[in-house]
Amino acid sequence: MGNIEEVLTIELPVGENFRIQRCRYTPKKGKPTKRISVVSGIHGDELEGQYVCFLLGEWLREHLEAIKGTIDIYPAINSLGIDSITRTIPFYDIDLNRIFPGSKEDFLPAQIAHGVVEVMRGSDFAIDIHSSNIYLREIPQVRIAKAQENTLVPLANLLNIDFVWVHDAVTVLEST
Ligand SMILES: [Zn+2]
Repeated sequence: MGNIEEVLTIELPVGENFRIQRCRYTPKKGKPTKRISVVSGIHGDELEGQYVCFLLGEWLREHLEAIKGTIDIYPAINSLGIDSITRTIPFYDIDLNRIFPGSKEDFLPAQIAHGVVEVMRGSDFAIDIHSSNIYLREIPQVRIAKAQENTLVPLANLLNIDFVWVHDAVTVLEST
C-alpha cells in the first residue's frame, strides 16, 4: 500500500491551506535502489495526468513485489487550478511551469515552485506528465531539454513512447 504524505503546506490568505500530497511506495523488503518522482497537475486544465497517476497506483498496489525503489506519485501539484480546471494558478494567473525554481520569499506561485523543487530534491528521476487541451491533439511524446539530452534520451527510450522531442534551450522555456 502506498503511504500518503503531506509534503508542502502553505497558509492561504483566506484561512485555508494550500497543500501538496504525494503517495510513496517503497520495497516490501530491502533498501530502495533508486527514487523516482512522477508528477502531474502542474497545469490545472490537463486532467489526463491524474488518470495516469491513478492507473500507476493501481498497478503498483497489485504488484508490490515488483517495487525495487522509492516511487513517489504527486498527482495534483496545482490543486487550486485542478479544482477550477484552470491552467494557471487561479487569482495570480501564473503558469507554474514557467517560474521554476521559485523562491520561499516570494508570492504563492513562486513558493509552490520552490516547495516542489525541495520535496523532489534527491530523486534520481522525475517525470512531469502534461497533456493537451481541447484545442490541440497530440501524440504521446517525451520532451527533453537539449542540455540534458545525453543523459535523458537513453532513459526516455525506456518509456516505450514513439516520439522523443529534444528541445533547444529557448529562453522562454528556461524556467520550466
Ligand atoms: Zn502542461
